Amino acid sequence: MNLKNIKKIALCFICGISFSNFAIAENFKPIIVIHGGTSNLKLSQKDYEAREKVMKESLKAGQKILENGGTSIEAVITAIKIMEDSPIFNAGKGAVFTSDGFNELDASIMDGKTLNAGAVAMARHIKNPIEAAKVVMDKTPHTLIAGEGADKLAKANGLEMVQQKYFYTKHRYEQLQDAKKAQKTLLDSDNEKTSANLAKPYLGTVGAIALDKNGNLAAGTSTGGTTNKMTGRIGDSPIIGSGNYANNDSVAVSCTGTGDIYIRVSVAHEVSSLYKYKNLPIQKAAEETIKQVAQIGGTGGIISIDKKGNVGYAWTKDSLGMYHGEARIGEEPKVFWPLAK
Ligand code: ASP
Repeated sequence: MNLKNIKKIALCFICGISFSNFAIAENFKPIIVIHGGTSNLKLSQKDYEAREKVMKESLKAGQKILENGGTSIEAVITAIKIMEDSPIFNAGKGAVFTSDGFNELDASIMDGKTLNAGAVAMARHIKNPIEAAKVVMDKTPHTLIAGEGADKLAKANGLEMVQQKYFYTKHRYEQLQDAKKAQKTLLDSDNEKTSANLAKPYLGTVGAIALDKNGNLAAGTSTGGTTNKMTGRIGDSPIIGSGNYANNDSVAVSCTGTGDIYIRVSVAHEVSSLYKYKNLPIQKAAEETIKQVAQIGGTGGIISIDKKGNVGYAWTKDSLGMYHGEARIGEEPKVFWPLAK
């Protein structure tokens, strides 16, 4: 800690300002940032607007919590639940199918203040997997619970349970048939699909990260995984440090993309490390990390916020866009759909 910071802390104590309010003295505005996955660039205006609408609703709900003094964890869960309940995104209701025709959902949450975290994987009956991730974090000594155990835990804790048929959507089922024909495991953003899929964009894993008024960071991610994945396959989204990470001493990160590669790059933690140990600005840390993903054949995106509320967005830009949005308190929520140059 440098002399300037020591002086600031001393001043806070003298003025009777508690240490937890120190962040307010730093003068940042609490913020929530979300993503709705990546997609190929063949989006119609209509498709864009449908997604923008849900994402704005999600941002507004998270922003309201932060404005009312709520925690970053609460903001993240609320924002993600809205996207999980929409059939548009590859999370909750709109989850993709496994090769055997199941829907197996993964989700994770991390609290940057305590470094506590929880995740579920391969859940088949939980309506909102992000809530189950929070149950793992709050009520168990574990970090990741998979399969039947995740469903059982959610039920025992009173979460809303659904039959597999709840997750059926025509477009996801067609996407599975396409993937089977092509003998591929598909990301929502993949271009190598049959004509049916090229006609329709299949977005996208969802994520939310937030910084609250007390300077606490949180991150959450939720997904159905990849279309035609092997039954039992677990991606990066429920793996802390890969698809999701938050630490008050550095950053909060949520990812979307080729999970099998994101795990090997430890993407979310890599962003944190580059920020913390290499002193890269958050935007640069996200960009450097996505380069590593691309180098070993991955595609996808990253959203990140540092402890001061700066944002960093990066995705493999040659053929993709990443739906993302941000809302600082007191500002109009913005959703971005960037086109490739
Ligand atoms: N990362 C997710 C997975 O591999 C997929 C995605 O983000 O679209 O499970």
